[in-house]
Amino acid sequence: MCGIVGYVGTTGGAAAVDVVLDGLSSLEYRGYDSAGLAVPTPSLAVHKAQGELAALEGIVPRGDLAGSLTGIGHTRWSTHGAPSDVNAHPHTDEAGRVAVVHNGIIENYQRLRDDLAEAGVVFRSETDTEVVPHLIRRYLDRGVSPEAAFRRAIDQLEGSYAIAAVFEGSETVYAARQDSPLVVGFGETGTYLASDVPAFIEHTDRVCYLENGDVVRLTADGAVVTDSAGNPVDRPTETVAWDPEDAEKSGYDHYMLKEIHEQPTALRQCLRGRIDDLEGTVTLEDINGLDHDGPVQFVACGTSYHAALFGAERLRRNGMAAQAFLASEYTTDRIPVDAETLVVGVTQSGETADTLRALREAARTGATTLAVTNTVGSSAARECDHALYIRAGPEIGVAATKTFASQQLTLALLAAKLVDSSNRTALEALRDIPGQVQTVLDTSDARAVAEEFVDADGFFFIGRGYHYPVALEGALKMKEITYRHAEGFAAGELKHGPLALVTEDTPVFAVVTGDGEGARKTIGNVAEVAAREAPIVAVTDGGSDVTRYTDYVLEIPTTDDFTGSVLAATQLQLVSYWLANRLGRSIDKPRNLAKCVTVE
Ligand code: GLU
Repeated sequence: MCGIVGYVGTTGGAAAVDVVLDGLSSLEYRGYDSAGLAVPTPSLAVHKAQGELAALEGIVPRGDLAGSLTGIGHTRWSTHGAPSDVNAHPHTDEAGRVAVVHNGIIENYQRLRDDLAEAGVVFRSETDTEVVPHLIRRYLDRGVSPEAAFRRAIDQLEGSYAIAAVFEGSETVYAARQDSPLVVGFGETGTYLASDVPAFIEHTDRVCYLENGDVVRLTADGAVVTDSAGNPVDRPTETVAWDPEDAEKSGYDHYMLKEIHEQPTALRQCLRGRIDDLEGTVTLEDINGLDHDGPVQFVACGTSYHAALFGAERLRRNGMAAQAFLASEYTTDRIPVDAETLVVGVTQSGETADTLRALREAARTGATTLAVTNTVGSSAARECDHALYIRAGPEIGVAATKTFASQQLTLALLAAKLVDSSNRTALEALRDIPGQVQTVLDTSDARAVAEEFVDADGFFFIGRGYHYPVALEGALKMKEITYRHAEGFAAGELKHGPLALVTEDTPVFAVVTGDGEGARKTIGNVAEVAAREAPIVAVTDGGSDVTRYTDYVLEIPTTDDFTGSVLAATQLQLVSYWLANRLGRSIDKPRNLAKCVTVE
């Protein structure tokens, strides 16, 4: 999910080791937890280190590698195995003939790993990636060429990957892509490979984007792209006009907008290998050993708390006793918890102090603890009995967006696993979510709606059932990045007090999907608001006649309530984003806020 860099240069040009390290530093914005590089000549040299790039720079013997012509480098965002020197990429075969870097997830790695281990291969890391160099080596041993060995290994992989490999003694880089980006750059003194253009934009602006299934061979004088069967394919070379600052945000003005748009990819990554279509079951390898049918308590803060409310609702609807608590309000002397309880800490960073404290307290009562987090090897992941990863990739914007969507989806998967439901329809609905979020992104009128409310200084968000946490999250996003006052309410609560605040100057966003009883009741609440002449925005799939009362509509595809709330959350993120943008706010770093809150 993070960064790959590759380079093959001509003699007399810059040292490959320098090009690779510079490239990695240009990809730092993507976030990472460890880094490494390999140079294949005269013999294969591999250096890697956990932590910042500076740690890697500290151990790379640049002097010894000053004559290097070829290299590959990697920044890792762990998905399989904690961040550590050993798990950092590149990974090699046992004899050190090939070195491989990989972004993404290899879904069938366990089967491949078992096969290789049975044949006597000794694995050094816990990564899914390490199967690749061993597979390549297996084919080399059968006497095939490096290119053929690379291809055959790639053919066996299922999942998402951008992979690059170098072979000892060879000034060539091989790479392949499937669902993770890779771009080739053609320079005066060599050929470049990277996950993203900023890695080499200072050397060349002539690029060629690889597509899924492509395999590329890079040499100093160019690149040959072929399909998976080895037939040459023509990928156009384009000239990119990128300002390095823009490049980091892939052309978006802010990380937040980029991350909102990354949601379909993040959600696909979250689902990868976890739903078995044939059986209609969910497999969560991360928590294979977890079996639980007692009470469930969620502890979390901020946006993660809203996801936790959502998870608790999902479990309750599946017949389990589940509750969500604000981590800062959770103490075991006031809340009944014992060895029969599963306590789930939802924390994007895995380092949220309030959540860690709550989890530690719960653990002391004998409860089973589970961390649901985006950060492999984080404190929550290490300290809990189990860890389930949301796989959203790094999130740079302080206001959580894609991690919220990934938490919602992960908690739905968790619910399916815990209740052991083989409900194919429900699972198919989860599978459809990434595509439907894409539809929302492609068609949203959020920007125009935001324009209408530039002068409003108070906003209300209402919803019922699954839409209640979305109302809370919509309001939180609005507060965080626009600095405008906003409140989220359970729709039925409005008349119990907050209605006193509703005037023609307070826009109300109402999330309504389907035409069930919940929708009908919320429409009643919308009517109450309409009677006070508040401007109303319906976030709806058109399943009901709510728009009869509303001034604006943010449409979402027709689906079930659960999915509807994921889609509605995306619309509300966009409204807050566009309003904050119009108001010139510091969107990626809102005042007074930090991405990871490590104090109680
Ligand atoms: N799945 C691989 C790992 O955990 C690659 C992660 C990445 O994309 O950086 O090592």
